[in-house]
Parts: sequence; structure tokens; C-alpha cells
Amino acid sequence: MKNILTIDLEEWFHANYHENIFDNQNSYEVRIVQNTKRLLSLFEEYNAKATFFVLGFVAEKHPQLIRDIAASGHEIASHGYGHQLIYEQTPDEFKADVSKAKILVEDIIGKSVKGYRAPSWSITPKSLWAWEILQELGFIYDASVFPIETYLYGLPSSPRFPHHPKHEGRLLSLLEVPSSTVRIFNQNIPFAGGFYFRVLPYLVISQCIKAVNREGQPVLVYLHPREIDPGQPRLKLSLKESLIHYYGIKSCEQKLIRTLKEYEFTSIEQYYEL
Ligand SMILES: [Zn+2]
Repeated sequence: MKNILTIDLEEWFHANYHENIFDNQNSYEVRIVQNTKRLLSLFEEYNAKATFFVLGFVAEKHPQLIRDIAASGHEIASHGYGHQLIYEQTPDEFKADVSKAKILVEDIIGKSVKGYRAPSWSITPKSLWAWEILQELGFIYDASVFPIETYLYGLPSSPRFPHHPKHEGRLLSLLEVPSSTVRIFNQNIPFAGGFYFRVLPYLVISQCIKAVNREGQPVLVYLHPREIDPGQPRLKLSLKESLIHYYGIKSCEQKLIRTLKEYEFTSIEQYYEL
């Protein structure tokens, strides 16, 4: 069966472990163009299609890159504009950020954007109101929920598979497509992207993909362009944050290639025929 591939299209410095890690006004080194082109050539080589959740900040600086991604047959979706955690914004601030990003990207690709993913999975019990705003802004689906609990993110009460969430008793038309987990000893265990993908051996990841597929569901893999870039500049982070951000960067591209060789991938839009 097919699985789902997603990329959060942001720069190497867009991290939210603590406040003020980055400032979008600074002129940092640009790594996104070369890293995205590398991903596009790998996806072409292994005939994979993906959903790219594009950060408005990146789209504004590199509109041709976004057109190139779309022209390669991938889905363009939104990652908001400034990469701030949702639960640290007011509903009005969140609405302004996402609305600006949606219009910006739609102008670049000349078609409407159907999906949204929050910076750092920040739809949590503190920010469920975000679903209502996304629906109001015309999004068809959201992919911002991780059904686990961590210090930074997670909505442990969420179903593991796509569903229409309820907010304050109302069933929403917005489709929620959560990040993948496997069930081990009654726990949801993450494996399919980011730090988890970098830290786990390929054979473990592959067994987890097979386990989810045996449940009749696709796995949703997620990665960032910076995760295949060992030459990126380093952020000033604590030891723990450094580990989360950089562990396994050197071997990540090879692991991605093995995954692309063994499994077939498509975008969220194509998988669910949205
Ligand atoms: Zn992000």
C-alpha cells in the first residue's frame, strides 16, 4: 500500500525549543534552496510524491522554489508564516499569521491551499481553538496533531488515524490527519519523522511502517530539509535541544533513500482524494 510523505519547508534555524532561538529579521545563511533541490531530485529518482508544508517566510523569499516544487507534482500546503508556536499566540495573532501565509502561497502557485501544519505540532490541549480558525480560513485538512505527550507538543487524547475532530461539542468539517505512531504496551510510540526517524535504526522504522500498514493505514512520514544537511550552521542550544535538533543528521539522507526504495509515497491530497 501507499504511504504519505510530508516535508515542513522551513530554514535550518526555525526551531521552537525556547523563545528567541531565531529572529526572522536577521539575515541568516540560506540553506533551503539547495536542500529542497536535493529532496526533489531524490523524490523524482524514487518516484515519490509529497506534501510540502511551506512556511510563508520561505515562500516570500524564494517564490520560484515553491513553483518548482509544485511543477514537480507535489502538493503545496501551509506551515503558517513566522513559525511561532500556536499556543503562545492569541487566536487573532494566529489567524493573521496563517491567513497571510495562505494568501501569499496561493498567489505564488495560482491555486488554493488545502492543508495546514502547525510549527512544532503546536495544536495541543491549550490551542484546540486553532481548528475552528483553520476551518474558517478555508482549509480542508490539518496535520498538526501528534497523539503523544512531550514537553513541547502533543495531544495524547487524539485518535491515531484521520478523523473529524470535535471542538466544544461541535463536529468540525476539517479533517485531522495525525502524525503516525505504533501501539506498544498500550502506548502511542512515534517513529516516522524528525528526531524519531533520525534516532531509530532503519530496520525498526521499517517494522513500524509494516505494523501500521497491517492496521490498514498509511504511515505519514515527516522531515525537514535541514535534516539531510550536515553542513548547516549550528544554533546555540542546550545539550538536550542540540540532541533533538542534530542527532543523526549525517545518516538521515541514507535512511530516507532506503525508505523511498522500499515504500511507495504520495501526498495527503492524493492519498485522501481531497
Ligand atoms: Zn516547522
